[in-house]
Amino acid sequence: MDDFYCEKVLHGKVVVNKVFETDRVLALHHTKPHWPVHIVVTPKAHIPDILSPDCDDQLLGELFSVIRRIASDVTAKHGSCRILTNLGCYQDSKHLHFHLSFGEPNHLQAVV
Ligand SMILES: [Zn+2]
Repeated sequence: MDDFYCEKVLHGKVVVNKVFETDRVLALHHTKPHWPVHIVVTPKAHIPDILSPDCDDQLLGELFSVIRRIASDVTAKHGSCRILTNLGCYQDSKHLHFHLSFGEPNHLQAVV
């Protein structure tokens, strides 16, 4: 499986705990959390990664609006938040997504 979001999440093939959504962006709790708080923000349309030409400024703005909203909530509740996205061999699921997390890693595993 190299696109968990198109293959599973966005077609309702896996039950997800939604955090927030807009017409084009979905935020959900990670199905296999790597940190005590682990939320993923992803576009609903297939965008391979942040370098894709399909990831235009309008979509980036919408993504970061959602990221900022959730980072604000996580920081207000826990005091800290990290935000990351992966490229190349670091990106296991080939669909643009941002990890928002708080806390120390739950265990050693790949972050997908
Ligand atoms: Zn996709």
